[in-house]
Amino acid sequence: MGEMAAGIAHELNQPLAAIANYASAAGRLAALQARGSTDTDGELPLALTQIGEQALRAGEIIRTLRALAQNRQTQREFVDVNELVEEVLRFARSDLRLNEVQIITEFGVGLPLALLDRIQIQQVLLNLLRNAIEALAVKPRERRVVQIRTSCDDTQRLLIEVTDDGPGASEDLVTRMFDPFFTTKETGTGLGLAISRTIVRAHRGEIYHRAVSTGGASFVVELPGPSGSGE
Ligand code: ADP
Repeated sequence: MGEMAAGIAHELNQPLAAIANYASAAGRLAALQARGSTDTDGELPLALTQIGEQALRAGEIIRTLRALAQNRQTQREFVDVNELVEEVLRFARSDLRLNEVQIITEFGVGLPLALLDRIQIQQVLLNLLRNAIEALAVKPRERRVVQIRTSCDDTQRLLIEVTDDGPGASEDLVTRMFDPFFTTKETGTGLGLAISRTIVRAHRGEIYHRAVSTGGASFVVELPGPSGSGE
């Protein structure tokens, strides 16, 4: 987390430095205008718009951090992952409805409980769901589907798979998507998958992308079963 904090500080510095620069330029332009010169190129509104956009970007980075790396003690408890998925779907209900995304669930039967921090893993799943919803934005409304599947392997590790049939990810994208601050979205922070990986690994689990034949993207969250670690 320390390494990531340094990266985050650096990333936050950029919009803040840009805000300072644009603000000082705006100040200069405003002073010139006060003295009667005309802003023919519309530079002042441009600087002000930039200030607004950069502030939003800084806010977005902070919001993502707050949601994912909540400042609280981790609390491990035994959790039914099917229940956990149901909870996450309830949280995401309005987002799903708004974007007309249909959910298909396939819940494993008789799964062991997982020892995990409920809130942290909810955030990981919510982030996957949000990414899926965003990926599906390019598809016609009637064909936006996300599949969520739970299962366990023969070592009692729990698997939660979130699969969308959006445009998917190229090989190059797959190798970089978990890097902190890597994003292909105009307003993305590129922190979601990186922080999710930190969280899941702190649970002695793993999160990875898996190619799917239908061309969409699929993410698997693997978590230790009731022994908590597989030790
Ligand atoms: P952000 O959503 O802010 O970009 P993430 O770390 O969650 O940050 O995602 C990093 C990048 O991984 C995204 O910008 C996108 O290019 C890619 N990605 C994530 N989820 C999907 C998905 N379901 N389909 C296609 N690409 C994805």
